[in-house]
Order: sequence, then C-alpha cells, then structure tokens
Amino acid sequence: MADIFDKQLTAVMEHGVRMRPKPIYNALEVRDGEVFLDGQPMVMAARNDYLGLAHDPRVVRAAAEAAHRWGASSSASRLIGGSLTLHEELEARLAAFLGCEAAIVTTTGFEANLALAPLLGRGDVVFSDKANHASLIEAVRLGFADRRWYRHSDTADLERKLAAADPDAAKVIFTDGLFSMEGDLCRLPELASLARRHGARLVVDGAHDIGLLGPRGRGVGDHFGLPDAIDLHTGTLSKGFGSIGGFLAGPREVIHYLRHTSRSVIFTTSMPPASAAAALAALTVVETEPERRTRALEVARRVRDGLRGLGFDTGDSVTPIVPVITGRTDMATALWREVLAAGVLASPVSAPAVPEERSLVRLSLQATHTDEEIARILAAFAAGGRKLGLIPDAPAVPAARPAGSVTAAPGQQTSACAVMDRVS
Ligand code: PMP
Repeated sequence: MADIFDKQLTAVMEHGVRMRPKPIYNALEVRDGEVFLDGQPMVMAARNDYLGLAHDPRVVRAAAEAAHRWGASSSASRLIGGSLTLHEELEARLAAFLGCEAAIVTTTGFEANLALAPLLGRGDVVFSDKANHASLIEAVRLGFADRRWYRHSDTADLERKLAAADPDAAKVIFTDGLFSMEGDLCRLPELASLARRHGARLVVDGAHDIGLLGPRGRGVGDHFGLPDAIDLHTGTLSKGFGSIGGFLAGPREVIHYLRHTSRSVIFTTSMPPASAAAALAALTVVETEPERRTRALEVARRVRDGLRGLGFDTGDSVTPIVPVITGRTDMATALWREVLAAGVLASPVSAPAVPEERSLVRLSLQATHTDEEIARILAAFAAGGRKLGLIPDAPAVPAARPAGSVTAAPGQQTSACAVMDRVS
C-alpha cells in the first residue's frame, strides 16, 4: 500500500523542484536597493517594492508608531474583535482611491483573491486567463462555478468560450492586470468590451499595477483611460504599497456579501496594525508623489532597452517586471547564477510559474534603483549572457520598443521563486 508522504515526495523529487530559499541580510545602514547575501553586497532586483516604499522613513515610522500604540497583532479575526479603526480607515481610503463604493482589507493579497470564491455559484461560469496568479486560480478551484481557462491574453479564445457558454448563465472573467512573470498588461479594452457584450462581470487582480500604473496610480483601468471597465478590483499592499495585506474594492453590496461569506476574510486573524498603518502612509505617498511612478518606469525602460540591445529576449514586458527569457530551465538557472556571482539578485522562474519552454530570469525594478545600479545590472547580464552563449559577443543593434510600451509620458503609471538555490 502506498504511503501518502512517500508518494508525494517522490513526485516532487522527480519534477526537480527541490529548492531552498537563501536568507538575505539587510544591514540597517544601507538603502533598500542594496542587501547582503552570503556576506556580499548585492543590487536587489528581486522584490516587488516598485516605488521603494518599504523603506521610506514615513512608512516605517507609521508602522513603528502603530505597533507601539496597537500592539504587534490584532489577535482576532475581523468579525470577532479584530476590526480596528485602522482597518476601516484603510478601507475607506482605498475605496476612495480606486473610485469604488466600498473595500475590504485582508491579511494578504492571496486571501483577497481567495475571497472571490463565494461569487462562483453552481451553474455560473468563470473564465480565467491561464497565466493568472496562483491565488486567482485557487479561487476558481474553490468556487462551484463551471471553469473555462482561456489562453493567455488570447481574447479570440475567450470570445469563443464566452459564445459557447449557456447564454442564461451568470458569467465572470478573472484576469491579472499586470502579469507577474513576464510583466505584460492584460488587454483591458478588449476584455471590457467582451464582458459587456456577453453580460459578464470583469474582476481584475491589480496586485502589480495598482499604485504603479496610470496617471493617478490606480492601475490598468487608469492606464488605459477606462476607470469604469473593472467591476471588482482585488489587490495587494505588499508591492506598490511597501507593506503587507490585500484588498477587494467594488460595489457596496458585493463587498458586504463577501465580507460575510468569504472564509479567507472571516476565519483568519486580521491585518496587523503596523501593516495597516504602513499601507495608509504609503497610500498618501502614492497619491501625492507621482514622480515615483515616473522614475520606476524610467528605470525599467532603461534596463529593458539595455537588455534588448544586448540581444536578450524580454518578451512583451512594458513594466518594472522585466523577464530575461532563456527558454530552457537550465539556462535560466545558469544565467541567474552568473548574475548573482556578479552582484545582482534577480529571480529564476521556471515551470509551473511559466510554461516549460519559457523559463526566465526575472528582474523587478524600482524607483529607488540608481543609475549606477542600472549599469551594474546591465554589465552583469552582458557578461553572464556572453559566457553562456545566450547573446552575441558584439553588441546587437538596439531593438525597437514594442507597441504599447508603458512610458512615463502618456500615463505614469510570484513569484514562484524567491531567492532560490537548487539543493541538488
Ligand atoms: N496576485 C498577484 C498577481 C501576485 O503576484 C501576488 C503575489 N505574488 C498575489 C496576488 C498575492 O499577494 P500577497 O503576496 O500579498 O499575498
């Protein structure tokens, strides 16, 4: 008889996913873009702190003061003693920021997406992009609705699937706003028009774009000039907002319903006071300092243009998530090791986070990266790429920027792998 532990462990070993995270050391006196790994200083390009707010003194002070005043934990879930005025203030501020009637905050962004499950009833149909984040996929699996997975950003495939569904069924489309592995944007105008034509609701996970994209930082809706296209937003406070926590924002009744039915809201301890206060302080910065968005996009554009000029494939990225696509997983790992040895901390990404043949090294760039750090990143990739034969020895002709590239001018705008080291 098979033993359940042995069976699953054998499967994991066969797929070669034996990874262990390497601990990072942050010296108190250094800036957020620089960390130490195995005693060596590194340019940090593997975090999602796009606006550099996790180390902003105003955000850190707000967190510290809240911890002193409210304690280290709220020690209870929202419905039974864990609702603080800080949570309610953050909900009101987020709803106003996104132009929605109401919002709920959750303890993580993952839980915000899981909280969608009660929307998915029997007989309903949910259409989900295949490249959506794992937490949206989990929400689909938790719900009772029929599931249709459409090819990544393939609106023709989605349209076929919408047309084939029961016209009387209630329908909803789930998509990431900014896809976290390759840094490409969802095709919001097409998705919104398909949703309207087929009577479907559109739910967008703005984890990576809210705070960063659009003239007011409200995410992809703001970026595309379609503020009302999204029926329900989910998001995280752990990326553009430099804290931790998640949220849902939308019509008042829908938020009320989810607050009282979503298990990931009801049955977990609420967001810690320090995190809520940090997010509130960060939101003020997001609202008042658009130049941070401009700088984050400018850093990303320079790194992306530099990598393309060297001959690397950076896919359809138009954002501070810049993938260096190697195709083969062993090449992604080898390139990641080379740039690590040269003092740049990026993230190796392979299946199942991306399709097998699109393994990559992911760079996450931020407003606080300096020009000197940009140069170090490019030098590390140039040397590593040439050594591995991934790029030509002579500099290639600079490639044209792809259509739709996000720049500062018109609209300011999972990692499956943390810092990983293969055990074997
Ligand atoms: N959605 C997306 C698109 C993400 O990339 C992530 C985190 N990597 C989440 C949701 C979950 O957010 P959190 O880390 O706050 O749980």
